[in-house]
This record gives sequence, structure tokens and C-alpha cells, in this order.
Amino acid sequence: MTKHVVTLIPGDGIGIETSAAMRKVVEASGAHIEWEIAEAGAHMIEACGTPLPEATLEAVRRNKVAIKGPVTTPVGTGFRSVNVALRKALDLYVCLRPVLSLPGAGGRYEDVDLIIVRENSEDLYAGVEFPVGSPEALRLIELCEQSGAGSIRQDSGISIKPISITATRNIVRYAFDYAVKQGRSLVTAAHKANIMKYSDGLFLQVAREVAEEYAGKVAFEDRIIDAFCMGLVMEPSQFDVVVFPNLYGDIASDLGAGLIGGLGIAPGANIGKDYAVFEAVHGSAPLIAGKDLANPTAEILSAAMMLDHLGEPQAAAAIRKAVRTVYAKGECLTADIRKATGSDKPAARCSEFTDALVAALS
Ligand code: ATP
Repeated sequence: MTKHVVTLIPGDGIGIETSAAMRKVVEASGAHIEWEIAEAGAHMIEACGTPLPEATLEAVRRNKVAIKGPVTTPVGTGFRSVNVALRKALDLYVCLRPVLSLPGAGGRYEDVDLIIVRENSEDLYAGVEFPVGSPEALRLIELCEQSGAGSIRQDSGISIKPISITATRNIVRYAFDYAVKQGRSLVTAAHKANIMKYSDGLFLQVAREVAEEYAGKVAFEDRIIDAFCMGLVMEPSQFDVVVFPNLYGDIASDLGAGLIGGLGIAPGANIGKDYAVFEAVHGSAPLIAGKDLANPTAEILSAAMMLDHLGEPQAAAAIRKAVRTVYAKGECLTADIRKATGSDKPAARCSEFTDALVAALS
């Protein structure tokens, strides 16, 4: 079988350790992968003048598929998030984040199995912002006042929340197509249309229109985001596929991760028409970086999603099975999981946990 060439962006912080662990596990799974390493992160600023070098973007474009460790957003350097820049440059309009219980991972429930489909390109993440006191902010404040739209304090910074028909249609269609393909029966749209009538209201209107195209195949409901959050915490099994505008999807992802045992086990993918970049939900956790303490499960499960995407379902299934086996045994689990389960058993290091997974694969 020919090998799939995949761009591997280790990132920084705990990404160095979680990416090395992921690579070891994927190689032990028998998947036909060849890695092309590309760099991104604060450590590239000095050499390339940017945390996201053009050569890295080119490598993803060439191979079409990448897996990425977390990248720290450098504070005070004038650079925006590498993650957001990558999603924009490659038009990765879907953020897919499964929330699935793992046995013995310290989740609040044993039966969580839902899919977060987060719009990735607009909303408050669009990056259209004006600092307090800037001429643009003052002009906007004046415009709001003059148009009768509302009064904004002069000393306000402003972030714009665009929600378009095009992006909403694309993301909601993706959610429904995903539900059809995966045999899931319900799509929920989460929003705050009762307050933000022209942005979230539009999101809901378009979601309802798209839902009609799938009538009889997949059911549809909508929830106001605050009620959704309460429902998720109280009875997560009521949800199946949930589609969100960008910001709510980000928050719901961490909420979902918290329900199943924490960020250490929450995988994800950013998907567009031409490219896909797989990455854990978590960030670079600088406080535990370089200490062999990180939990690589989230990146390893992101790799399993990547293998499905590449048409290597056996290797993906083998990795998921090995993860479940090691968690169910409970002998070799990292510190975050020991904490989530309230266990006083000694915690495994990242490298020890990885070795246990490799052993479970053989
Ligand atoms: P970002 O803003 O980049 O999303 P963040 O500041 O929200 O990052 P994370 O880096 O995602 O935060 O992590 C928050 C905390 O969760 C970390 O300090 C760490 O304690 C824990 N954590 C996250 N990921 C892992 C992991 N893979 N293994 C162990 N602990 C983790």
C-alpha cells in the first residue's frame, strides 16, 4: 500500500511531547504514513519573522492533510493566534470535536457521545477589532449613535461579530451531512437568537432552512446556548450532533471535555474543502511542558480521526481500542486523569502511557 504523506507540526509547549507520543502510536498501529515535519510557533519568529512560516503552509497545501500539536499564541508580539491564522489561510471552515466518554477517565457520565460542529471562520473570532480610543472605534461609536442602533460608551474597545448566510449554510450542511454519513439522528443548533437577532438570529434562520433539506432523514432542534449548556451538564446523552457559531463552539468544547475527564482526552479536526488539519482541543499548557507530564490521548485520538479521513479505518479502530483498553485497565494513566478520578495511584509519565498504548497495539 502506498504511504500517505502527512505534514506533522509538533507546535510548542506540551506539543513537543504529545506529538512524539502520537507519532509512536500511529507507527505502531500499522498505518501507512510518512511524516513531513513543519514548524510553527513562537520559536519561529526570530528565524522567519512569523510564528507561521509560509513553508509550513506550503507543506500543508502540498500534502493536504496535517496533524498539529498546540501552539502558544505569543503575547505582546503583535502576532495573532497561529491556530486561527492556519484555519483562515487554508479555509478550514469546520471544527469537528467529538465528545466521547472513556472508561475510567473520570468523566461525570459514562455515556457521553456527541459531536461538536463549530463554525471556524467568523463570529467574534473573525479578528475584526478596534482598540479603545482608536479613530475606527470612535467612528463606529458615532455611527451607532447616529443610526439609532444604540449608544456605546466612548471608552470602549470593539470586536465585531459577523455571521453570514454563506458560512452558516456551509457549517449546518456539514453537520447534517456528517449526521447522515455517521448514522446519527439529531442535529441541534445552539445560538442566542433571542438577544442577537441579526447575527445569531440569522444563524438560526439559515439552520432551519437547511434542516428542511434533510427532513425525514435527520431530526432538527434548536437550543439557546445557555439552556444548551445546562442541558449538556445535566443530561449529555440527549445530544447527538450539535452545530455552533464559532465562540459558543469553543466554549462548549471545553465544557464537553470537562464532562468526560478533561482536555487531555478531547480530540479535534479542522476541515475545509481542500485541506484538513487535526489537533487536540487543548492548548500548549506551558506550566507542564518539557516535564513528561502531559497526557497525549487527545492528540492520539485526533490522529485516529486523521486515519479515518485518510481511509485507514483499521489503524484508527486499533488505536481507539488500545486507548480504551489502557484506560479501562487503569494502571497506567497520566496525572490529569488521576486528578479527575480522585485516584491516589501513582501517575504515569507521558512516555510510560505511550509505551502502554504501543504494547496494547501489538
Ligand atoms: P489555549 O488558550 O491555547 O487554548 P489554555 O490557556 O486555555 O490554552 P490549555 O493549554 O489548553 O489552556 O490547558 C489548560 C490546563 O489544562 C493546563 O494548564 C493543563 O493543566 C491542563 N491540560 C491541558 N491539556 C493537557 C494535556 N494534554 N495533558 C495534561 N494536562 C493538560
